[in-house]
Amino acid sequence: MMASTSLLELKGISRRYHQGERELVILDAAEVHLRRGETVALVAPSGAGKSTLLHLAGLLERPDDGEIFLNGRSCGDLSDDARTAIRRNDIGFVYQFHHLLPEFTALENIMLPQLIRGLSPAEAGQRAAELLDYMKIGHRSDHRPSELSGGEQQRVAIARAVANAPLLLLADEPTGNLDPETAAYVFSALEALVRQSGLTALIATHNHELAGRMDRRITIAGGKIVDM
Ligand code: ADP
Repeated sequence: MMASTSLLELKGISRRYHQGERELVILDAAEVHLRRGETVALVAPSGAGKSTLLHLAGLLERPDDGEIFLNGRSCGDLSDDARTAIRRNDIGFVYQFHHLLPEFTALENIMLPQLIRGLSPAEAGQRAAELLDYMKIGHRSDHRPSELSGGEQQRVAIARAVANAPLLLLADEPTGNLDPETAAYVFSALEALVRQSGLTALIATHNHELAGRMDRRITIAGGKIVDM
């Protein structure tokens, strides 16, 4: 069978929230299609539904209607355990705040997802060290998150997200908490990593200049996903 060129497909996805009497329609039969290796920026105002879309794509939530395919496989009917395994092995997440574990060093934070996956400490440590070097923070490997700057913390979080060599990287305002200069530096490091590894990435950002460096830009309007 020929490998599909689609890495992520959301077909006819709807998501509604109930707030008291009111129904809030965030996504209404929306379509998203990411080709393998494609980088896509999700640009929309706060409250438009960016996190909702990323949570659905990352199998953290289930849509009210519609189907999600990752690497050609339908994810809707999978058990929670199977979805957890896909999240662990095939999807990397980066959030606005780093969510590193405070009691572990930078190196250990990047080793952990690999150990959970079943790699040996030696293998996990080597990959973690390589990633820290790639992110130009090899000299910080023994530091705990509280001893790192905001930009360094976020570079560790990015390294952790790709530690298990996922198929898909999902990022929710990954530089939203950084000053403009640091944001530009961290974004460049993220971009280089994604391009070099051929990762498919969907990155929510408010920053139009950074979004302009992705292959494509999409937004959320009237419950649909539209190209910008
Ligand atoms: P964004 O990431 O673009 O800021 P979100 O996806 O977080 O937007 O939220 C979209 C809208 O859905 C917002 O108006 C938010 O208040 C609402 N919302 C998000 N999650 C819930 C929830 N669990 N229950 C009710 N409303 C929600």
